[in-house]
Parts: sequence; C-alpha cells; structure tokens
Amino acid sequence: MSQAPIRQAVVLVGGLGTRLGALTKETPKPLLPVGGRPFLHYLIEEVLRHGVQEILLLAGFRAEKLSEISALYPQVRLIVESSPLGTGGALRNAAEFLDERFFFLNGDSLFDVNLWDLASISSGATATLALRKVPDVSRYGPVALEGEVVTAFGESTGAVGEGVINGGVAVLSRDVLADFPQAEQVSIERDVYPRLASEGRMKGRAYDRPFIDIGVPDDFERSQAYIPALVRRGAVIFDRDGVINAEVNYAHRPDQIEWVPGALDAIKAVNDAGLYAFVATNQAGVAHGYYGEADVTALHDWMNAQFQARGAHIDAFAYSPYHPEGAVEAYRKLTECRKPGAGMLLKLMDAFGVDRERTIFVGDRETDMAAARAAGVEGVLFTDGDLGEALALAIARLSARG
Ligand SMILES: [Mg+2]
Repeated sequence: MSQAPIRQAVVLVGGLGTRLGALTKETPKPLLPVGGRPFLHYLIEEVLRHGVQEILLLAGFRAEKLSEISALYPQVRLIVESSPLGTGGALRNAAEFLDERFFFLNGDSLFDVNLWDLASISSGATATLALRKVPDVSRYGPVALEGEVVTAFGESTGAVGEGVINGGVAVLSRDVLADFPQAEQVSIERDVYPRLASEGRMKGRAYDRPFIDIGVPDDFERSQAYIPALVRRGAVIFDRDGVINAEVNYAHRPDQIEWVPGALDAIKAVNDAGLYAFVATNQAGVAHGYYGEADVTALHDWMNAQFQARGAHIDAFAYSPYHPEGAVEAYRKLTECRKPGAGMLLKLMDAFGVDRERTIFVGDRETDMAAARAAGVEGVLFTDGDLGEALALAIARLSARG
C-alpha cells in the first residue's frame, strides 16, 4: 500500500512542569535552558534535519513565551489551547491543521531515533510508537509487542520487570481523532492508546538509542552536558555521482539516476547509528550551462523522498555549481567550494557542529580524497562493489563514542 509521504510533525509543548518546581513556574518546560539554549531548539532541529517541512507546536501554559520560536524557525506554527485539554485534547484542538499522517512528539523529552525508520513500519496502523527498553516497566506504562504489532498498552499488559515502554515519539494517522472520547480533556496515553492496541491498530518498534526526559529533575541536570554531546555527532559525507548513484555524464533528472548497490543500506545505517549523513557534490554542469541550480535542488529533493520512503534520509546536500572554465559567467570561477577544495565539507561540518574526529568523506576519485585531506577528515575511496558492505565497519567505528 502506498501512502502520502509524511511532511509534518506535531510537538506537545503545553504541559505544566510540576516535577521541576520553581524552574517552570513562569517558563514552559520545553524552553528550559540546556547547555545554554532552550531544549526545544534541539528538538526542532532534530526534526528538521530529518526533512520534515512543518512543525505544529501545541501550546498552552505560558504560550506567549513560545511566540518567538516561529521567527527563528519559519517551519514552526504555534497552536494555543485556551484551557488545559490534555495531550489528546490539544491534538483535537489542532484538528484542522493536521495532515493525514504526521510525526507526534513529546516536547520535553528527546529520543534519538531514526524517524523514517519508524515511518517505514507505520503503514496500516492508526498509531506507530517508538519504544524504549527499561529495566523495570512497572514505573511506567508497559507495552506488549509481538513482532511489529502492539497487542496491549499500559497496565492491562500486567507486565513487570524488564520490557519496553512508550518513548514519546510516534507516527499518527489523523483518523485517530475518531477514537477520542467525548470528554473535553483527553489523555492520549490513558484514553486512546490502550484501545488502539486492544483492537490491533497499533504498531511499535523498540530502539536501543539515547533517551532523556528533561521533566525529571535528575535528568534535567544530566541533560546539560548530555544533550550538547549527543548532537555533536560524527558524520558520513558522501560524494554523489559514482558513490550513491552510478556515474553518468551530468545527471540532473530522476530518470538518469541508477542507485549504486547498497547505497540506500549505507545511508540508512548512518541514520540508524545516530550519525549525520551528508552529500557533497561538484555540479559543474551548472557552470557549463547544461542545467540550472533549481534542477540540482529538485533532484536532491527527489532523492530524499526516495530515501525517506525506505527509512533513510540525507541531512543536508552541498553542491558546487562552479567551474573555472564555465560557459555561464556567474559560475565561472576557481573556488574552494569545488572539490578538491574543502569548502563544501567545512561548511557542512560547521553548520551542524560535527565532531570531525568521527567523520569520513566517501568518494570515488582522487579529487575527493584531496578534499577530505584539505578538510582534515579521513577519506574513504569507493570505486566498486556494495556501498553498505564497504562502509559497515567504518559506520560502527564512527558511532562508538570515545
Ligand atoms: Mg564522484
């Protein structure tokens, strides 16, 4: 069954931070500072790097303090409830703005999962949850999982000891609103999820990935160093032509793209490992007048849509349209941005605050290796074979924190 791609995320930011006492008396919990920045900024940037195009923030308590967020992040739209409605009530209050399917996230916790992997199993389910393993489920609401199907949610599972619980990240279908009770206040975890599970309409997948809930005082303290370290990720930067897609002269349309064996597996493995996945590609065809920059970015959008539908994504594409002998004057120049220069690699790493010690550049030419050297990262030459197999060991090594 083919479904429309997800383009929207909905984030709950309206809760009262009662467990944090005075800290949240005047400030919504998601705005509390973590490593010198509001926690919510990290969360928004994590969602945006996955390629989500719109974020709805469902706000209530002290919503006026959130009004500057959409100036910082134009993809963000703030929806304010006039009285506390609970997690489900807040969602129903936003009904007219909801896409058919969307990511649904708690605004006061961070679960470092590959959102597109979760989306890739969501077909046919009303709700699909990212689950996390805990040593003792009785402190939380346990979840019973059989394969990819959640068969029970909450106390009715009767589970104790080690198990899985809701990690606060989900894919929801807008149809879920039809399952809401009439009451004004609705808790989606208490009033909706148990029923979806008992009716076989809920899926889930357990992820062994970092999780932190800033609403817990000890975790809030721990998050100050932990979250900035977490988002200082390593990266795999891919050359495009000859590495991700087979080399043809000046490819700029989807019908010219043939994937290199294992390319999708390699990108997904990078995503799953919590590393950034970037592309850095020379596109001198623009300087030569064969196609325009809009063709380049449209092709990259198309590529990302193909990857997302298969559980993967590229966090950012960098391209250089220049060439010293180009026919188009605006693009005729020698620049550090064109490989073997380091410009694209440095720009990507700076923009995302990448850990260069845990970064490689994968290319099929000596000019790529020279660019890697110039950028101070390890170059990996790939000329033939299966890209996923070729990079498996390197990805495992980069994802391990020293
Ligand atoms: Mg190449």
